[in-house]
Amino acid sequence: MININEYTLDELEEYIEMLGEKKFHAKQIFKWLHKEKIESFDDMTDISKSLRDKLKEQTYILKLSIINVQKSKKDGTIKFLIKLEDDTAIESVFMKYNYGNSMCVSSQVGCKMGCKFCASTKEGYVRNLLASEIEGQIIAVEKYTGERISNVVYMGIGEPLDNYDNVVKSIRLINYPLGLNIGARHISLSTCGVVPNIYKLADENIQSTLSISLHCTTDIERKKIMPIANKYTINELLEACRYYIKTTGRRISFEYALINDVNDTKEDALNLVKLLRGMIAHVNLIPVNEIKNGVYIKSKEKNIEIFMNTLNSSGIVSTVRRELGSDIDAACGQLRQKHIEENNQ
Ligand code: SF4
Repeated sequence: MININEYTLDELEEYIEMLGEKKFHAKQIFKWLHKEKIESFDDMTDISKSLRDKLKEQTYILKLSIINVQKSKKDGTIKFLIKLEDDTAIESVFMKYNYGNSMCVSSQVGCKMGCKFCASTKEGYVRNLLASEIEGQIIAVEKYTGERISNVVYMGIGEPLDNYDNVVKSIRLINYPLGLNIGARHISLSTCGVVPNIYKLADENIQSTLSISLHCTTDIERKKIMPIANKYTINELLEACRYYIKTTGRRISFEYALINDVNDTKEDALNLVKLLRGMIAHVNLIPVNEIKNGVYIKSKEKNIEIFMNTLNSSGIVSTVRRELGSDIDAACGQLRQKHIEENNQ
């Protein structure tokens, strides 16, 4: 059976024609699936019964099931554990900001990248998500909350640029005016630094925002917490970032997790200034999320302030990311990790 949600509009048109039907039905069907988010072909009221029957025979509508929900009492953040068709689970987070509702989506089941501060990688890598499974997280959460999502960040479980083709396809799916209609500029992709795919993404001509998880200012220190640093140096990474900025005209966000006694000194801040000088960049300072059995603890308030002020006074715009969902298992991968542990007991 074919997962019909996986078709882009062009692919769906081709498929409908292959069924011997008129191409324009593809637009109607696409709208039912991605905008109206229906779960049964019988709800496609402007599609003939004969075409609906053909679709039922060969295809199915993807449905992701929400199996656990944690709601923050502090700020309305909701964390979802979502089950996929093969019974693996991923996480998605719904967050309310004053500019609209935002969602953090997963791009893989597990992750190979092994960042030391991250719970998502602890249970290893299982598989890439399909484009429709990435989009499906938004559909499931919009249906659950009854709210429209206007911003999407690829910052959940997985390294988006390690699942390049499906992630790029998912951006196109999410972006279609006939579907969820979320503007590319409201979609942000976060990478730990898969350098060749930063170049590739720059050439795609998608207007999405790129975030780089930098977290350290020297290769020696970065290698200690991010294995990807063994493959690409900071210089190689920043060279790719400069190409991305030059090609797309888009600003890059650098994520910097502030970890107590690891990367949060004034000297680290001054090194960061040197690295980013001359780039159209923004630095997001994130007091690290303390994960179960993790060794890292978040920086002291005083150090966070000194770090931020050092960047800002040197002309590097930086902000401290508001901690959302601090009363739930908000760190990416924690809810899934708990689920795996419980099911293995
Ligand atoms: S931080 Fe991102 S890239 Fe690194 S292990 Fe976690 S999910 Fe993977």
